[in-house]
Amino acid sequence: MRKKVVAGNWKCNTSVQEGVELAKAVNELVAKEGAEDVVVVLGTPFTHITSVVDAVDTNRVGVSAQNCAAEASGAYTGEVSAAMVKSTGAEYVILGHSERREYYGETSDILNKKVALTLENGLTPIYCCGEALDIREAGTQKAYVINQLEETIFNLSAEDFKKLIIAYEPIWAIGTGKTATTEQAQEMHKDIRDAIAAKYSQEVADEISILYGGSAKPSNAPELFANPDVDGGLIGGASLKAEDFLGIINAY
Ligand code: PEP
Repeated sequence: MRKKVVAGNWKCNTSVQEGVELAKAVNELVAKEGAEDVVVVLGTPFTHITSVVDAVDTNRVGVSAQNCAAEASGAYTGEVSAAMVKSTGAEYVILGHSERREYYGETSDILNKKVALTLENGLTPIYCCGEALDIREAGTQKAYVINQLEETIFNLSAEDFKKLIIAYEPIWAIGTGKTATTEQAQEMHKDIRDAIAAKYSQEVADEISILYGGSAKPSNAPELFANPDVDGGLIGGASLKAEDFLGIINAY
């Protein structure tokens, strides 16, 4: 049975102190009222990870980085390696977010290296894919997203591939308040799962959690999560409020 996952992406928000307070509030709410069968992850800035790991019950609330270096170590000023992330106690790394692809020039070659290093260090990549509005309007979103997978993660062995979490995030829905319809989400999630089945096997495809990301909130999460191929969400804005995040965790 594949896991249901609700992962927050705090992006470049909160001071360390605010982040720790938010993490503690999520931790407390999840312990009291959180759906027990949902894996909860907090994607914090690098500076916050160690403090957030200390502030939560990591058996219940996992912690994620939002990026890692494409190199293992060395003279790369300002970079944070996958091994460093691992040493904090975090278990996940968000990779290939559209904001990193667009603003920081993350190419498929760079992502290949990051995915490999993340896996080598025993971390779970939360691998993001998704199309921009012009591609959706041209109706070529399926080919575009499958090509992203082919260029970045379909080179992995089946054994490694099974360790991934995939997040489908239509760029036109991220932070815009515009959510994909439940049909659009289900259609793309099924296309992704079918492509995994064709590349690997149905068994591998059935094991992979595919999350939806893009203006998800407590009010629309139940409808999105009711789709058979939507296994949870990667949540930006709504993960910055503990109550809203809990509402999404409990949307199943
Ligand atoms: C995201 O950036 O991963 C995201 C889904 O953001 P939001 O929920 O704010 O649209």
